[in-house]
Amino acid sequence: MSFDVLPASSAITADDSRRVVRRSHGLRTLGLMLGAVMVATVLYRRGVPASVWVMLVVYTLAWPHVAWLVLRRCRDPVALDQRFFIGDAAMGGVWIALMQFSLLPSMLLATMFAITLIAVDGRWLLLRGLVIQALACCVAAVANGLSFSPATDTVELLASLPLLVVFPMTLGAIMRSLARRVRTQNRQLLRMGSIDSLSGLLNRKHWEDAVTAVMLRHCCEDAVMLLIDVDQFKHINDQHGHTVGDEVIRRVGAVIRGSLREGDLAGRYGGDEFAVVLCGIDMHAAATVAERIRSGVACSLFERAPGLRCTVSIGLARSPATTNSTREWVKVADAALYRAKLAGRNRFVVAN
Ligand code: GH3
Ligand code: MG
Repeated sequence: MSFDVLPASSAITADDSRRVVRRSHGLRTLGLMLGAVMVATVLYRRGVPASVWVMLVVYTLAWPHVAWLVLRRCRDPVALDQRFFIGDAAMGGVWIALMQFSLLPSMLLATMFAITLIAVDGRWLLLRGLVIQALACCVAAVANGLSFSPATDTVELLASLPLLVVFPMTLGAIMRSLARRVRTQNRQLLRMGSIDSLSGLLNRKHWEDAVTAVMLRHCCEDAVMLLIDVDQFKHINDQHGHTVGDEVIRRVGAVIRGSLREGDLAGRYGGDEFAVVLCGIDMHAAATVAERIRSGVACSLFERAPGLRCTVSIGLARSPATTNSTREWVKVADAALYRAKLAGRNRFVVAN
């Protein structure tokens, strides 16, 4: 998993970029602060010139914020940040050489940079980072007179503990929050794919799947299906335009949603046709729901067409005793709906 967890760069939004910049600023500030405690302790005990101290202070205290300011203003902060992380890895190589390869701090620095590079962009960034880190380490080692003293004493070990403990835990927490974000987004995508955008109800396929699943679980014994169709919808479209027609679909969807209980299943079955399965209900109570939907639509007002009055016809059918087929159930409800249309519309009819 990549640390920025972003889609292909063309799909990166400004929000994504801001989040990446914020997160990398926090991680860089924390990592360099904890690393500075360890590096400063080792350098102090081994003795280094003042210029190295200046470099350490500037790098650990100023660099994370300079990087943040630059990234905030740049067009492609994700790509630039990867280069900055490679630069950080190179600086890690320099500190390893200046610490005269004190074993534990050196290993720890190399490991923490490796973990960060993998988290940021996987193994290719790691490979580039490691090569550059090794080169920087060689150059700094030569400049430092090839001093090599790998033994780590207790004080150096103690100074390494904050980095050893806190940094991996922080990375773990970041990964966890990213995984949670990905899960939420996946759920949203799934939801977006199953919901009809106009009515806010399930689309036909997901509604049928949901009803079939309920039928297979034998939870439909006391269930009633309502097939709802807008009356003279073609006329509404012709007279007021499709935008008003869409407003009608939205309104009917809202009325249906407002009439359901938890566990009921409502979907947009086709153009102006809606289907609802009311679970754990007898026909008398289902008729009350149908009447609520009918009157809710009939008294609706429409912003774009103040004079428009719209009605629906509804067919009701009890769950079939002999079959588990959703389509068969719809057929029976559809026959009742047809009778409601024939009888003059704006009413509900219960199937025989
Ligand atoms: P009836 O009372 O017999 O149902 O008559 P009707 O005019 O409503 O006939 P029908 O149900 O067959 O009409 C469906 C129309 O719905 C046809 C199509 O142009 C329109 N339609 C389907 N989907 C949409 C949509 O998403 N938006 C809009 N505005 N119109 C749609
Ligand atoms: Mg219609």
